[in-house]
Amino acid sequence: MKRVIVVGGGISGLATAWFLQRRGFPVTVLEAGGEPGGTIRTIERDGFRIDTGPTSTLHRGGVLAELIKGVGLDADVVEADRRASRYIVKNGELLALPTGPLSFLTTPLFSGAAKLRLLAEPFYRRALVEESIAQFVRRRLGAEFLDWAVDPFVSGVYAGDAERLSVQAAIPRLYALEAEYGSLFAGAFGRAFRGKPSGPQPRGRLISFQGGMQTLPRAIAKNLGGALQLNAAVTALERMPNGEWFVRTPSSDHRASCLVLALPAYDAARLLGRVSPELARELEAVAYAPVASVALGFRREHVTHALDGFGALLPRRLERETLGVIFSSTLFPGRAPAGKVLLTAFIGGARNPSIADKNKSDLADRVVSDLRPLLGIRGDPILQHVSLWSRAIPQYELGHGRRIARVDAALGRWPGLHLRANWRDGVSLADCVDNAAQLAERLALSMNASEPAAAQEV
Ligand SMILES: Cc1cc2nc3c(=O)[nH]c(=O)nc-3n(C[C@H](O)[C@H](O)[C@H](O)COP(=O)(O)OP(=O)(O)OC[C@H]3O[C@@H](n4cnc5c(N)ncnc54)[C@H](O)[C@@H]3O)c2cc1C
Repeated sequence: MKRVIVVGGGISGLATAWFLQRRGFPVTVLEAGGEPGGTIRTIERDGFRIDTGPTSTLHRGGVLAELIKGVGLDADVVEADRRASRYIVKNGELLALPTGPLSFLTTPLFSGAAKLRLLAEPFYRRALVEESIAQFVRRRLGAEFLDWAVDPFVSGVYAGDAERLSVQAAIPRLYALEAEYGSLFAGAFGRAFRGKPSGPQPRGRLISFQGGMQTLPRAIAKNLGGALQLNAAVTALERMPNGEWFVRTPSSDHRASCLVLALPAYDAARLLGRVSPELARELEAVAYAPVASVALGFRREHVTHALDGFGALLPRRLERETLGVIFSSTLFPGRAPAGKVLLTAFIGGARNPSIADKNKSDLADRVVSDLRPLLGIRGDPILQHVSLWSRAIPQYELGHGRRIARVDAALGRWPGLHLRANWRDGVSLADCVDNAAQLAERLALSMNASEPAAAQEV
């Protein structure tokens, strides 16, 4: 059987390896760090369970369900209450995002004029050029929907700038509604009533695991067994004259005919610099936004707000540095000791890159002072933990789709080389798993079709 070398033990690399191994292909995963999971990290401090990267993911069944079951985690899944409110901060208050026609008509989040403006949505024409999310939403729904609904959502998912992100690349489902139906409303109704050719889409569930998000990569790592090598940073790679890929770490050399780089774009660019300057240039140009995740523990009686929801997003119009806060101990059990609450806030993003140079305790102070009046916080935090991700989330900016097409064209010139990580086709953990499963299937088909070749450590 042909062996596949996967570089990177984040969820993209681990899931690719797991799906390949399940199909019977031998795999070696080389991960630079001492733990599996990449940006998925869970730590325990003073009885609090803190996710310093992703805190949950949207689960629509499919291959994520197969993976969770396959690694034995079905019983560990915890699910957030679907009916919990999502708050947007406006005029110093937390206002629940409307969830139905009645709450939409009565919400103070949008003015009467903005609500009326929506009636005209089906009559706006499609744009002929690629648009940013901001241009798209202003054109179809009006400026208020951009400012008080979509822009905060873009901060929540991408920590991004809606003026710079491509609607096509960053929110393809929204873009597809217009492309298929000519209007978002027609699209939403059309899909609901007609259903998709493949049947109705399962409703998403927001999930985590009892032991926190890193439970998943840890379980995959356990399943992979000796196939995963930690503390194995790849320092060089090369294509041999016989077509095999040669990969070097400080302690081992490897060769295989199939190589998957499941790495952030900038790390893949560094490794590919000598192999393909063309690919390296494209990958180096993918922008990233910095984000600090600030975990704050409080005594329950020191927070006046009911914390009865997912959390709150702070729109850019408020001119606060904090992007949003998740009510972590409300969402999932076991995040805080009895009588205490855990909040996870995010600060920074594409519009505020200077946070990457700031001191962690200043960032925590900034977040506490932004949240204090909103949540009625009286005491000081009894727990404070800041994780600074200087290149946290890739930004699918205008032109991203064309860049990906150029990357794919260049990859066509390097048989056996594959690139798979969150800088393309979706940034969420669930997207990474979907994309990993698709790649594994493609590789399995092509390897089954070609001659088997033994792999080796040299
Ligand atoms: C703060 C934050 C909050 C987030 N919140 C959410 C959320 O709530 N829900 C959600 O679904 N998603 C969320 N995401 C996004 C999601 O976590 C990521 O998109 C996803 O985990 C990325 O996985 P990956 O495997 O593609 O990349 P990574 O996790 O970056 O993994 C890449 C791996 O490659 C390794 N590596 C790098 N160079 C080398 C080398 N030379 N040799 C060997 N190994 C190397 C790294 O050590 C790393 O482990 C969040 C991300 C961040 C940063």
